[in-house]
Amino acid sequence: MKRHRAEKQSGVSRRDFFKGASAGLIATGLTGSRPTAEVARAEVRDGFAPSGNLVQISPNLYELRDTCNVYVLKNGDRAILIDFGSGHVLKLLGQIGVTKVDAILHTHHHRDQCQGDARAVAERIPIHVPQHERHLFDDAENFWRNRRVFHLYYVRNDFFTLTRNVPVAGVLRDYDKFKWGPYEFLISPTPGHTLGSLSLVGTVDGKKVAFSGDLIHSPGKVVNLYELQYQYGSSDGVDFAVFSLARLRELSPELVCPSHGEPFANPEPAMSGLIGKLRGWYESYSPGSALTIDNKPFAVTPHLICSHQTTSSFYALISDSGKALFVDYGSAGWNFFDTFNKAAPVNDRMRFVEHTIPELKARYGMKSVDVAMPSHMHDDHLNGFPHLARHYGTKVWCYENMVDVLEKPRGYNLGCILAEPIKVDRSFRHGEKFKWEEFEFTVVHSPGHTEYQMAMFAEIDGARVAFTGDAFFPSAAGATTQLRHNLIFRNWVENDSHVKSMKAILDYQPTLVAPGHGKPFLSNKEDLEDLNLRLKKQKDYFHDVIADEDCNFGLNPSWARLYPYQLEARAGAEASVELRVRNYRAQPMQMEAALVVPTGWKASPEVASIIIPAQGDASTGFTLSIPANWDRARPRVALAADIMADGQYLGEIAEGVVDIMGGKV
Ligand SMILES: [Zn+2]
Ligand SMILES: [Zn+2]
Ligand SMILES: [Zn+2]
Repeated sequence: MKRHRAEKQSGVSRRDFFKGASAGLIATGLTGSRPTAEVARAEVRDGFAPSGNLVQISPNLYELRDTCNVYVLKNGDRAILIDFGSGHVLKLLGQIGVTKVDAILHTHHHRDQCQGDARAVAERIPIHVPQHERHLFDDAENFWRNRRVFHLYYVRNDFFTLTRNVPVAGVLRDYDKFKWGPYEFLISPTPGHTLGSLSLVGTVDGKKVAFSGDLIHSPGKVVNLYELQYQYGSSDGVDFAVFSLARLRELSPELVCPSHGEPFANPEPAMSGLIGKLRGWYESYSPGSALTIDNKPFAVTPHLICSHQTTSSFYALISDSGKALFVDYGSAGWNFFDTFNKAAPVNDRMRFVEHTIPELKARYGMKSVDVAMPSHMHDDHLNGFPHLARHYGTKVWCYENMVDVLEKPRGYNLGCILAEPIKVDRSFRHGEKFKWEEFEFTVVHSPGHTEYQMAMFAEIDGARVAFTGDAFFPSAAGATTQLRHNLIFRNWVENDSHVKSMKAILDYQPTLVAPGHGKPFLSNKEDLEDLNLRLKKQKDYFHDVIADEDCNFGLNPSWARLYPYQLEARAGAEASVELRVRNYRAQPMQMEAALVVPTGWKASPEVASIIIPAQGDASTGFTLSIPANWDRARPRVALAADIMADGQYLGEIAEGVVDIMGGKV
């Protein structure tokens, strides 16, 4: 390594940079993100430089072979850059008459794509990054504080993340369009090489071009295989890559511009060849496991189509008009759910990649997705809902107690909440009937698996169908009973929840059960009764084993809770939080509560008193004052509520977190 040569070759010399800095060229207000002068100064270093020059691909498209391929798209004397490498490209743009760079768009977060970004920050060039990798740019240092290295089983190569934070000007959101001058690019999710990778697809100089990051290196080749393994010993990334290649192929690009390797025309056989090779490796390495791209929906009855290989089963009821009502719509497959779930940063939602809709249109005559209804509020059943609402104009209907969870997910600390808020268009009470197209439905509350679940009944093609969500599941092979349930205390469960749910389902006498996981099955009264007996017995176990005679206190960790659980607040401002209590006693409960807040904050009142009615609910509000000079290095803190109930000191049994915007650096 001949580092001493770097001085001469660098794009921005130290002296140039400091000239820029003193002239106020650092992007401060530009980004809404914190790091500015110090960060940029620390990161802009004299480095090596690529030896080649800009190569013209078509009249307005150029390529520089840097640490990755940097593509320059021109519009007169302006340009946007796709990926940035070392940033050396900035020194060469003058040669092709470019005087201003309007944006850098990153296909993924790897260091070789963006290691020179501090140079762009110093030049006030806005940086746009994949939505689901934003935290690996502007919060990279946090990633490094928390990334496990010992006991390494999550072997994904996110180690190829930047070492310093880079401020982000905008995010590239899946399925949106990025428009600039005469250009318009579809932001197409193409996970595989990284989880947040995307391709930009649009017309350049009369040709449909895909800037595909490292999805494909060259015809039939990938740049490496190790990026395609996330979990220990798995082939999960290969499954993603095949799915992404197949989807990109459907968009029929005429030219592919990869991040490594040369741009190539005639991509169809190039991508098909790579799919074939990856499929061969996958099938020989993981015999018996299917690729997600091979998942296919099937007709249960003429109007009821089921997709059961998706992460949760989902149902499309397709009316004679071609309109569809979806019950649930989760991820494309378990791999798509589990992998994105494990990778989602604390404040982000996991990624959703569209699936099955093309097949429903092509094979089952579906024309539109009119309505989508979640069986319950779990992310694996509804993480496609925001996509349906945004891109298909789908209306969201649900059981009434799910409305607030869907619209204000930060309010709750329950299992499996989807982070992205979903606007609900219509809700139903327990026992309410409604008509949609030629079908009639009844909605009932179905607690147990979670308090926020419905069962829905409808007669479809002569069958009495019960959509039961996760109320029960088929038993494991070899078990003596056919049905089983599960119990997640964090999901808000009370001793009689499951029994209530089973009663409503038994009362309807369904002939066909459409569950939230697995294939629909013919309903069998004996199996349902058998499960019902065990659920009744479960109540007795709870009473036997829990010390408090009102055993729901020992089942529900949220009986005293803060709402919202994840509060958003601003430094120098006030914010409101409530203590909400469910009293399971047969007598009213007298409660005193005080909020325990970070040093320098105030909560008022200092002590709140409430009486919670017997077997009822009550709440009381607090106002928080957050100091204006709050340290931005502490953007998230916890609160607790210290509680006395009926003269007994329970302590800090309820808590929440606050995300603080603003404050001082
Ligand atoms: Zn890469
Ligand atoms: Zn569930
Ligand atoms: Zn589920």
